[in-house]
Amino acid sequence: MSETLFIDIIERRIPADIVYETETVLGFRDINPQAPHHVLFIPKQKIRTINDVTADNAATVGELFIAAASYAKGIGVADDGYRVVMNCNEAAGQTVFHIHLHFLAGRNLSWPPG
Ligand code: AMP
Repeated sequence: MSETLFIDIIERRIPADIVYETETVLGFRDINPQAPHHVLFIPKQKIRTINDVTADNAATVGELFIAAASYAKGIGVADDGYRVVMNCNEAAGQTVFHIHLHFLAGRNLSWPPG
């Protein structure tokens, strides 16, 4: 997977189904959805993995959660429930090395995840 895939989406060099955008965050539908609503929220600033989250970029990371909650309210699933997931490095299944919050909703989500 390209290191710059999500930068290419931010810069509109690669098309994506964008559903949310602010100055600092982009939200677009996952190309391989695992639920009826599967959106990826990413910072426009490149942060490779959760291990690269610091006090300096913590506000940007917090905005991913604000984005997810705002989107959930907008599509009417906030009260029913939804899941956000962020994978860190290979053992957890991270394939794109630009942090992204998976937003999943629209079906019953079992626990523990696979
Ligand atoms: P992860 O495995 O946590 O790194 O998640 C990466 C996600 O990016 C996967 O769920 C992929 O389906 C998704 N993905 C890969 N390429 C694209 C793309 N061009 N547009 C939208 N989502 C993508």
